[in-house]
Amino acid sequence: MEKSIFTRILEREIPATFEYEDDEIFAINDIAPKAPTHILIIPKKQIPTINDLQPEDTGLIGKMVQIAKSIAKQKGIADDGYRLVFNVNEGAGQTVFHIHLHLLGGRIFNWPPG
Ligand code: 5GP
Repeated sequence: MEKSIFTRILEREIPATFEYEDDEIFAINDIAPKAPTHILIIPKKQIPTINDLQPEDTGLIGKMVQIAKSIAKQKGIADDGYRLVFNVNEGAGQTVFHIHLHLLGGRIFNWPPG
């Protein structure tokens, strides 16, 4: 599999601002933020889409959500509210085929989303 842009960022081939990193997961600021806080929580394992998740990835996804929760608290957006999003495939707006959880906050969000 060709290295995704996120794997290249993880390997420090491409610069990004890291917010978090452990042995399985890292988080970076989005290069084109859609809200005052827009952070991507990304597994180091390069899984193309949520459709490719395997049963053994269940814990990884749970950990990504736990990290998003912690970052939201740290950024001061937990009480006002924030949005967590996985875009799955082109029809939902996925552009980078290495799964990532968007953490968006710092403004009011409409529902339903566009
Ligand atoms: P998707 O559209 O796949 O759900 O989200 C991909 C996200 O990655 C977009 O919000 C886009 O702005 C972000 N992104 C794409 N390329 C880069 C990059 O090189 N660096 C960073 N930090 N974010 C990127």
